[in-house]
Amino acid sequence: MTDFAATKAMFDLPAGVLYLDGNSLGPLPKAAVARVGDMMRQEWGEMLITGWNKAGWMGMPTNLGDRIGGLIGAEPGSVVVGDTLSIKVYQAVASALDLSKGRRVVLSDTGNFPSDLYMVEGLLRSLNAGYELRVVEPAAVADSITDEIAVLMLTEVDYRTGRMHDMKKLSQQARAQGVITVWDLAHSAGAIPVDLAGCNADFAVGCTYKYLNGGPGAPAFIYVAPRLAASVRPALSGWLGHETPFAFDLNYRPGAGIERMRVGTPPVIQMASLAAALDIWDMTTMSDIRARSIELTEMFVALIEETCPQLTLASPRDPHKRGSQVSFRFEDGYAAMQALIARGVIGDFRAPDIMRFGFTPLYIDEDDVRQAAAIVSEIMQTRAWDRPEFKIRQKVT
Ligand SMILES: *Cc1c(COP(=O)(O)O)cnc(C)c1O
Repeated sequence: MTDFAATKAMFDLPAGVLYLDGNSLGPLPKAAVARVGDMMRQEWGEMLITGWNKAGWMGMPTNLGDRIGGLIGAEPGSVVVGDTLSIKVYQAVASALDLSKGRRVVLSDTGNFPSDLYMVEGLLRSLNAGYELRVVEPAAVADSITDEIAVLMLTEVDYRTGRMHDMKKLSQQARAQGVITVWDLAHSAGAIPVDLAGCNADFAVGCTYKYLNGGPGAPAFIYVAPRLAASVRPALSGWLGHETPFAFDLNYRPGAGIERMRVGTPPVIQMASLAAALDIWDMTTMSDIRARSIELTEMFVALIEETCPQLTLASPRDPHKRGSQVSFRFEDGYAAMQALIARGVIGDFRAPDIMRFGFTPLYIDEDDVRQAAAIVSEIMQTRAWDRPEFKIRQKVT
């Protein structure tokens, strides 16, 4: 069993704060500060450009990819890090469409994160080849997988409610119909066990600044099933995905396997911080994380429902059907969340009325859950949120 007191001690959490927003931005791993400082002084500072070889910067996207792969059930050598998640969505869907000649529909759902849908809309417009993005209700996805569909693009865990798709079942169904799958694991990686290989998924993407704690702006990752990696067209064909970047060949030839999904120069400073964050994952297993996350979310739901009749559970009641977050609906949810943040309980708000709380066992324990729930019920009972200053909308909610 994981020593969660030991993992909590690996984070620099500000005093007086109960941080329930690690699903949006993970907190600072203590070791990241020294790791980034060392990288800057000893590698960038001392080695200058020779750091690409000497310090192994060029190999970091696949090294980190393999470490993340271990948390999402990916085969070795099937994950690479780089760019942002929105970019990786574009790359994955473009590559997937290439494999499904003749079909013209990308299927997704209304539970998807808007950026994923925007990226696909933009892509389809550029292709200008009669493609259609079909967006259905989450519950209608299974029935909408037909032989008309080229690509099924879904986010496994709904960012607002935490509702989970049955990834294994939908992937199998898609495969049986000749549909290529693209799974977004933004709220899955580091939150719940994922078995990409076991699901026979085709592509997956995700980010490293949420549950993986890589820091603001940490790079995204992309997975390509090994059975496709040697034949897939990377779509974003940058020089570092070329077979021999330093041959400066004027003709593009894709690199071996997952290397071809690299685009340009990797963010070495951000990757140093991500490497430090990933060390903490060596202290635990995804099954321990999941068991603990269920305990914590169940406890929070019970405490809130006992004391806050104003709040309505927006997440599935069955913990096996939701990710590692719990959301409640409340008409004045924005103001209520601002009042909570002022009291040190940091969650977030998602329009129109969702108050979202993330539970991250690496650094949140039962005491934190009890304290947070007590503050939520106090704010609700005293209507402390009902003040003009809590109703001013900020840029990031
Ligand atoms: C967080 C999130 C994003 C964000 O994309 P970025 O390019 O990293 O800003 C995209 N999709 C989903 C499903 C997300 O949860």
